[in-house]
Amino acid sequence: MPGQAPEQKGQPGIESRPGIFGAAFFALCPRCGAKGLFKGLTAFAPRCTSCGLDYSSFNVGDGPAAFLTMVIGALVLGFGLWVQLTFDLPLWLLLVLLAPIIAGATIWGLRVSKAALLAAEFQRGAAEASGKDIKPE
Ligand SMILES: [Zn+2]
Repeated sequence: MPGQAPEQKGQPGIESRPGIFGAAFFALCPRCGAKGLFKGLTAFAPRCTSCGLDYSSFNVGDGPAAFLTMVIGALVLGFGLWVQLTFDLPLWLLLVLLAPIIAGATIWGLRVSKAALLAAEFQRGAAEASGKDIKPE
């Protein structure tokens, strides 16, 4: 394809590379845009079935989980207080109402944030520091 860098020639789907938000919200491979970034609810597939990108080489870590705990906790607490003060539900009913909201928001948030971090790492070529990164004085 004209206009492509030599290292991109022959690579599948390079022209359809999704942005970070597209990859995050639709769980797309950051290199080729194919679906199937996750193999379970929040676990990455080992590699892309279309272009072979190795997802295990990216280190997303636990950053999204800590951030989501605070954000989802604050949102659900506010919603729970509003429901309780408005409708005065029994405590057991409030817990039954909030439990699926907490679980769904956590799983959805983890998927989106982990996919966004993986796509950002891919686009910026982020990697673990190695010995060659140390500058001699
Ligand atoms: Zn791919």
